[in-house]
Amino acid sequence: MRDAAAAVGRALSRMWRLLRIFVLLLLLAVAAYSTLYDRLSTTDWDETLWIGVFPVDADGNAASSRHIAALSQADVVEIERFINDEAHRHGISLERPVRVDLYPEVREKPPERDADANMLSTMWWSLKLRLYARRNSHPAGRAPPQVRIFVLYHDPEFNQAVPHSVGLNKGLVGVVHGFADRSMTRSNNVVVAHEILHTLGASDKYDPETLAPLYPAGYAEPGREPRYPQEFTEIMAGRYAVDAHRFEMPDSLAHVVVGEATALEIRWTRAP
Ligand SMILES: [Zn+2]
Repeated sequence: MRDAAAAVGRALSRMWRLLRIFVLLLLLAVAAYSTLYDRLSTTDWDETLWIGVFPVDADGNAASSRHIAALSQADVVEIERFINDEAHRHGISLERPVRVDLYPEVREKPPERDADANMLSTMWWSLKLRLYARRNSHPAGRAPPQVRIFVLYHDPEFNQAVPHSVGLNKGLVGVVHGFADRSMTRSNNVVVAHEILHTLGASDKYDPETLAPLYPAGYAEPGREPRYPQEFTEIMAGRYAVDAHRFEMPDSLAHVVVGEATALEIRWTRAP
């Protein structure tokens, strides 16, 4: 009798273990599917992709809140125009590939990532960021956009440098650190456009050590003769080469392009 009970116990514990493994595999499959679904549905370019820009006050300084209060839809129009013009140049026929809307200010700040984050803490942070984005992206009376970009405005008088901006393909969310100054609006827009393309699957095209644009993918005109100075910036390189050792950031999207490699990653073009 006791043997039979022990056998049943063993069978139950084995079943329980199998069940836990099954549930875990199921969760992983759902996560993989949702990432793939997001990736494909945001880059099929057969209907307008909706992108929302959400201002956030980073430091509570008077300059930052004044800046946010004065923001209007006109400040993000340039981002939409840039992406749509470049999409058309790469052969997308949809009239309005993306629509970029300014949303009301979000009071809650996004979770911060540790500077020395390991893989596990990065996964945890990315999960918290996705939950944050879900919580804060549908203000009353407005439909939530598909891609959510939170722009934290820092008072330039107290912050000469701001933390790194990020854009996650998983979860379609980006966090941009910008400067709360009217004169910086157009350069902030360059960073917003860069992070939007990250959410759509584009990779960086610069050397993280030297910040040099990678050749040829990070060059707007890799075939230009002579090669330097480059006149335009590839959006995912973020800087253009003045010469072989000097790299500068563009003032606005007026001198930025989406290069061939990036266009392929976000599926504006297909590999031959
Ligand atoms: Zn980047």
